Amino acid sequence: MLEEIVAGGATALGISLPEGALALYRAYFDALSEANRRFNLTAIEGEDQAATLHFLDSAAVLACADLHEKTVIDVGAGGGLPGLALKIADPTIDLTLLDATEKKVAFLASLTERLGLPCRAVAARAEELSHAPEHRERYDAAVARAVADLRVLAELCLPFVRVGGQFLAMKSADSDREIEEAAPAIEKLGGRLADVRAYTIPATDILRRVVVVEKVAPTPERFPRRWAAIQKRAL
Ligand code: SAM
Repeated sequence: MLEEIVAGGATALGISLPEGALALYRAYFDALSEANRRFNLTAIEGEDQAATLHFLDSAAVLACADLHEKTVIDVGAGGGLPGLALKIADPTIDLTLLDATEKKVAFLASLTERLGLPCRAVAARAEELSHAPEHRERYDAAVARAVADLRVLAELCLPFVRVGGQFLAMKSADSDREIEEAAPAIEKLGGRLADVRAYTIPATDILRRVVVVEKVAPTPERFPRRWAAIQKRAL
């Protein structure tokens, strides 16, 4: 059952969930399931998988980085992962959920209001939004899961992060080459690869990673480039 898996998994990850979190994960699961009947929001195969592959996988970021009372932007949040699962585990996070698809963002805006989890939900493309002064280098952390290859993702995420903040990319265990190939891009964007934190999703044997990139210098104004340029030639 979802509540048992999430509670046991959080303990295994060393995360202490606030009161009411399990009921919020249940309500979130119900909302995702209902929305999935109307449009394709996220691939979930029942509550056990949602508990492990979505909620615990997302919450594991808290075992890899300190996001307490931090401003965090989830780039390409889709159905709200990892951002909303993180906000449930630590409500002190000041969360912005960003996605290019209006329908997904409308779902997130209404869901977070209904769950009493105040967040900003923004419908925009990351490579455009991060040129806006109110979003550029304004966040303590940018997180992303399943959005793009790390080289591209660094260009989408690092411009949002203030110097001294972090870009946290959730990746699979076989991402050595992807990380290596992203090194020049990370450097050009003002980042420094600080750590690769491995974890096993509790109640599964799935190994995952959080790639931790520190922002050590401002991102040059010319980045991010337009989407066509990013796609044509990764940094
Ligand atoms: N992060 C979620 C998860 O792990 O379940 C969603 C992953 S989904 C495969 C990728 C999402 O990224 C989509 O919802 C898509 O609209 C969004 N996306 C892709 N490129 C984007 C961009 N340049 N700016 C904003 N959102 C983007």
